[in-house]
Amino acid sequence: MASVTLRYFCYGCLVTSATWSVLLFLYFSLGADPGRGRTPLQHRGQSITKSLADRRAGRRLLPANKGAELPPEMGMIFNEADQEIRDTGYHRHAFNVLISTRLGYHRDLPDTRDAQCRDRSYPSTLPSASVVICFFNEAFSALLRTVHSVLDRTPAYLLHEIILVDDRSELEELKDDLDRYIRDELQGKVRLVRNQRREGLIRGRMIGASHATGDVLVFLDSHCEVNQAWLQPLLAPIHKNHHTVVCPVIDIISADTLAYSPSPIVRGGFNWGLHFKWDPVPPSELHGPEGAAGPIRSPTMAGGLFAMDRKYFNELGQYDAGMDIWGGENLEISFRIWMCGGQLLIIPCSRVGHIFRKRRPYGSPGGQDTMAHNSLRLAHVWMDEYKEQYLSLRPELRDRNYGDISERVALRKRLQCHSFRWYLDTVYPEMQTVANGNKPQQPLFINKGLRRPKVLQRGRLRNLATGRCLVAQGRASQKGGAVVLRPCDPRDPEQDWAYDEEGQLILAGLLCLDVSEVRTFDPPRLMKCHGSGGSQQWSLGKSNRLYQVSVGQCLAVAQPIGPKGYVSVAICDGSEAQQWQVEG
Ligand code: UDP
Ligand code: MN
Repeated sequence: MASVTLRYFCYGCLVTSATWSVLLFLYFSLGADPGRGRTPLQHRGQSITKSLADRRAGRRLLPANKGAELPPEMGMIFNEADQEIRDTGYHRHAFNVLISTRLGYHRDLPDTRDAQCRDRSYPSTLPSASVVICFFNEAFSALLRTVHSVLDRTPAYLLHEIILVDDRSELEELKDDLDRYIRDELQGKVRLVRNQRREGLIRGRMIGASHATGDVLVFLDSHCEVNQAWLQPLLAPIHKNHHTVVCPVIDIISADTLAYSPSPIVRGGFNWGLHFKWDPVPPSELHGPEGAAGPIRSPTMAGGLFAMDRKYFNELGQYDAGMDIWGGENLEISFRIWMCGGQLLIIPCSRVGHIFRKRRPYGSPGGQDTMAHNSLRLAHVWMDEYKEQYLSLRPELRDRNYGDISERVALRKRLQCHSFRWYLDTVYPEMQTVANGNKPQQPLFINKGLRRPKVLQRGRLRNLATGRCLVAQGRASQKGGAVVLRPCDPRDPEQDWAYDEEGQLILAGLLCLDVSEVRTFDPPRLMKCHGSGGSQQWSLGKSNRLYQVSVGQCLAVAQPIGPKGYVSVAICDGSEAQQWQVEG
């Protein structure tokens, strides 16, 4: 709190924090311009020029905020319109659009780099960058903050262009308003390409790349904010070696609060279900002359954010155009880079924030499981005998049609790529230890430093009121899935919970039990473990209650108790409905 007050003093200069609360209240309830009496969002969409005026007014009224802790007023609901914006926002975008809109298109961010990065210098001649951002139904404010963060924090001589690829979005706000905004406010560097049909992010990025003319392609998601001097450290290693592909560290922008926080330094891996996961960085990678600020070789990339020489992207076969919508392409390009003579590095001095949403707010047009389709393609083209590891975990996919892969097989041959065995031996030896497909997979978590949190208790979670056990409603590996109560079954590995010293509840070694810190009436869900407590921190006390630390409530059977076995978090009352026993 002290630092917040200090910040208010620094930037607000003459007013106290209490005065700010009053100003913020007036700002949000009456509108920045009292003559209009509307919130900024109501203006946006009706008139971009008005919204710009609001944003500028907003900047004048709001204290400059580093993004690490936002004033609580940011998320306050003052009237029905706010409520509507927040609720529709969560529904459409799976993050807090109310706060996103109030933030506007520019904000300061905390500098999350290692101190060593700050006074580093880069060659004066670096290749130029084409930034490619694909989007489908993105929230206008998040998209524009992404674009402006690039314009605000990239030296003009390095930024060749920004190419936006609209993947046939349906939202009105992304039509004329966006055209007008780009025409009137972003003349010059930003181009918008509209797809004639929904292509998905994989072909979408290929389309963006085909319009690009800069030396290096930089791909970003449409809900990012680039940080201080983010681009130079990405371009320098590519300049040195054109076959180097680089990723920034992906800092965390909270979906609920939009607060920006540093990500621990981790690298990319995967499991035999062909899901990407974060791994601790092996000590050997940290022993270079630059220590923790030096580049880290990474077996895989998370997908959304990376930079690659444009010619090399084309030579290496772009992406697999037979992959649809979302998923698998990140492992495919990672395997291809390593197996065909390139290298993939994470650059700790380059930081880009990304909104980590609780679920993906869109599906594929026909409801297909594109992740499975894409993973099958990548397994058959790149994984040789190791594709069995995947198929033995997903036997139902053995007979699934995955389309024609002959061009990709020919590409692999033409590029004279190494075997998958070589990749595992040389690039990802950690994987060999779990090479038996039936062994439990490694937990998906972001490790703080090198140590994994110790598991304190493990077993089924039996609810005392119902005698039933907590399980995933669908598959235990389904990110964003709900949890429900079902009859306990000691043989079912998908009822196996681990409770660790960080308070995480991890199901089947895969995902963490997570609550929305803002929408506490939303049921808890299974999410990728983020390792930073908060929404994933539970305390398992002697009274058998599972207390959710950040919302201050207890895990409970939803009332009235019904056959579907829904659970929720509720005010702790010590009843049996809120008591859980770890057994087995
Ligand atoms: N995207 C797209 N078309 C699609 C699906 C996604 O253009 O059919 C865009 C999306 O708007 C985002 C990027 O691709 O900018 C990556 O998708 P997303 O952020 O949903 O992936 P995640 O971060 O959840 O892995
Ligand atoms: Mn994303």
